[in-house]
Amino acid sequence: MEKANPYLKKRQLNAIKKILLHEKERLTRKDANQDLFCLDKNELSDPLDEAAVNIQASQELRFRNRENFYLKKINKTLDRVENKTYGMCTDCDGEISFERLSARPTAELCIVCKEEAEVSESHNFHQKKSKSLGKTMAELR
Ligand SMILES: [Zn+2]
Repeated sequence: MEKANPYLKKRQLNAIKKILLHEKERLTRKDANQDLFCLDKNELSDPLDEAAVNIQASQELRFRNRENFYLKKINKTLDRVENKTYGMCTDCDGEISFERLSARPTAELCIVCKEEAEVSESHNFHQKKSKSLGKTMAELR
């Protein structure tokens, strides 16, 4: 049996795919421009300018790392579109609403699982702080 998108209409899926492809194009094109910009670096002689450029470069690198991460996520999401698993929660196989996907096309969790993940994250945080209580979330359930 084909594990197809039981939740999204083809029209909705195409709309999301368009957003993803557009984002991908925007990120890849930006990359190309930045590489061109870097060629000017050798023309600088003032060490102060050079320091400033280095700071800017490290900020740019951080920014690009984030963008690369996002780009990878977009590629992964596009794979899921092709595999017809897109729109399904990776945790519970439940529906991720089209509204949520439109706002956040790379979402992998439905809103319920997402909220649960966030809650358990903050619980883990508190757990570390109140270890003396000696109870884990599992025991409380
Ligand atoms: Zn879920």
